[in-house]
Amino acid sequence: MLAEKGILTAEDLLYHFPFRYEDRQNPISLDELKPGDVASVIGEVRGSALLRTRRMPLFELTVGQGRHALKCVWFNAPYLSGKFQAGQTVAVYGKVEPSRSTSNLKMIQPQFEILPDASDDAQTQMLEVGRITPVYESLGGSRLASRWQRKVIFNLLESMRGTVPDCLPQSMLRRLDFPDRETALREAHFPPEGTPPAELQSFSTPAHRRLIFEEFFYLELGLELKRRRMKERKGIAFATNDKVREAIREVLPFHPTAAQKRALGEIVADMRAPSPMRRLLQGDVGSGKTIVAFQAMLVAMENGYQAALMAPTEILATQHFLAARKLLERSSRKPRIVLLTGSLDEDRKRTNRGLINRGDANLIIGTHALIEEKVEFDRLGLVVVDEQHRFGVLQRFKLMKKPNQPEPDVLVMTATPIPRTLALSLYGDLDLSTLDELPPGRMPIATRRVPGERSEEVWNFVRKQVAQGRQAYIVYPVIEGSKDDQPELDFSRDEPDAAARPAASAAGHRKTPKGKTAELFAASAQEASPSAKSGLKSAVEMHEKLRKGPFAGLRVGLLHGRLDADEKEVIMRRFQRGEIDVLVSTTVIEVGVDVANATVMVVEHAERFGLAQLHQLRGRVGRGAAKSYCILMTGERISDLGEERLNAMVSTQDGFELAETDLRQRGPGEFFGTRQAGLPEFRVADLLRDRQLLELAKHEAARFVEGPEPAVTEAERASVRTQLKQSWQRKYGLVEAG
Ligand code: ADP
Ligand code: MG
Repeated sequence: MLAEKGILTAEDLLYHFPFRYEDRQNPISLDELKPGDVASVIGEVRGSALLRTRRMPLFELTVGQGRHALKCVWFNAPYLSGKFQAGQTVAVYGKVEPSRSTSNLKMIQPQFEILPDASDDAQTQMLEVGRITPVYESLGGSRLASRWQRKVIFNLLESMRGTVPDCLPQSMLRRLDFPDRETALREAHFPPEGTPPAELQSFSTPAHRRLIFEEFFYLELGLELKRRRMKERKGIAFATNDKVREAIREVLPFHPTAAQKRALGEIVADMRAPSPMRRLLQGDVGSGKTIVAFQAMLVAMENGYQAALMAPTEILATQHFLAARKLLERSSRKPRIVLLTGSLDEDRKRTNRGLINRGDANLIIGTHALIEEKVEFDRLGLVVVDEQHRFGVLQRFKLMKKPNQPEPDVLVMTATPIPRTLALSLYGDLDLSTLDELPPGRMPIATRRVPGERSEEVWNFVRKQVAQGRQAYIVYPVIEGSKDDQPELDFSRDEPDAAARPAASAAGHRKTPKGKTAELFAASAQEASPSAKSGLKSAVEMHEKLRKGPFAGLRVGLLHGRLDADEKEVIMRRFQRGEIDVLVSTTVIEVGVDVANATVMVVEHAERFGLAQLHQLRGRVGRGAAKSYCILMTGERISDLGEERLNAMVSTQDGFELAETDLRQRGPGEFFGTRQAGLPEFRVADLLRDRQLLELAKHEAARFVEGPEPAVTEAERASVRTQLKQSWQRKYGLVEAG
């Protein structure tokens, strides 16, 4: 059961921390509570009952304290019958709600623990009563409850007293005023009497801060070393002479912004250096990243090397391919541009692979197929890759070049802006360029929320825009039917029912384990809520409806992920040429699609979309000089988080600001897609909460590598190295491989 959680050693167990603490020294009194509080209450079991209602069985528990009482309710929880006996002492934790029937207060789905009584052993009593008690995520279903973990960890700490080696240098701990490792571990599990509850709540006790720092330090140290090692590797020193500059000038369709100039300058400086470039180019939607990438690719081509561009979707690859052809038409050199995506037919793939391998293709644009198709490039000089691919791909570039060739330069581009401090620290092995300016002449995109019932007005508006020669997108959350065929839309279930939310998330404890955690969490939110999916409009159905109804007489197109590549290409091309007025679509158009004449973006069921998605979708319009509009149509029920997303969209257009909100809502794991991407998941640290410690760790890691500091002994350096190896191999193995 421990292994399921990745706990294999005593050390792992010591780093398995409580996700919250209960102050059972000074338990809160019921008459201090008011609705809205999130609190832990200790009281006596007065009574309990399983009530069969029409919808589901409800379990009720009354917890008393003198003349006060608190009613606790769990949905769908027949398994709780017989669990409580009158007279027992229990601790319940949750959000306090007003109760209708009596003047009493109520908790819905609280976490609970039956406290030990005189019949329990002394250690159990000592660990659970009259102290600050750690609460652990239950493991193995509910079989390894908090109580079990407390004992095992307590005994482990006791048996190791005085023997836990530190993994940070003494001088560093002193300088930063952090406790040693053993003390930090002990106090994070069993906080000493008098530890301020607020510090525990926010994981900011000295013990926590040290452990969080430690975790970040090893991440940053690894990144720093990687970056330095890269600088020692042999790459290509591209030349940028007048000829190269002229080649760029002759194709540039507009004056670059100051930000574009600066970014290109940084990129070109890297390309001229003899070590391989590893750089991240980030910028808000529409800031003009593509043209910067094309310029860098021209530098590579002018030097006689091949350049490759890897896009996240076929649609985007195709669009880049078309754009490159148009852009480079004006080039006197007439480079040969080749498209390679998974759905090309075998003949064309074979031909293209041959062109690439013989060096007859200069600019290669594709999807992940560039790697999957095992193409061997003749002279690969520069790879531009979108961030989505980064983690799965960086280490595989080796496969793309011939064995005796130098390492290509790599430019990673992000579609989603990342708050700068996080980008700097988290992508510490990449250098960072940021486009913080939009091309001139952009007008703000008027953004409005409109309830679904007012769709007639929306369609009228779209018709008017089309009559003025403009084009529109209408986006739906699903392709067909109402099943979730776009798995990336995962917002359908947030806060299914405010009352049914597990209490811990209401308290903003993002450390709360996901899913059901048995004993402590009774029925999960999903079980308690009515089926979340119903009556979703889909792209296919609405395409039919709109085409025959409100948009009769207009040219209406349909685009979604299930069309094959040729069909997608045809539709995109027709839309680009203005041969389609209204494009009904799914989120396949989310990233990168660039049609300047499109001025209206309508999103139906907007409450279901993530903030990053909405921002990207809105970024599809406002690309030309004409006034553009984004209309967010909503269904009938909108969660609190959904409200916040929609309001954020209406109130700002700044992608970095929206990214902050998105990050806060979803948490870093979801935001960065770390689970798929192989980015680290932290044991104590939280990227959002602990950003300052991340900065500090980055700074300290650089200082450590810069070394040698006389205050740091050789033994300490050796121990840091050992720890680094261990933690990187285990936690960041994939990233390290690059
Ligand atoms: P993104 O950063 O979202 O990838 P794009 O590269 O697609 O942005 O650029 C957005 C639009 O702005 C494109 O139509 C592009 O041609 C145009 N553009 C980019 N740079 C400039 C510039 N310096 N001046 C005018 N238009 C520009
Ligand atoms: Mg270089």
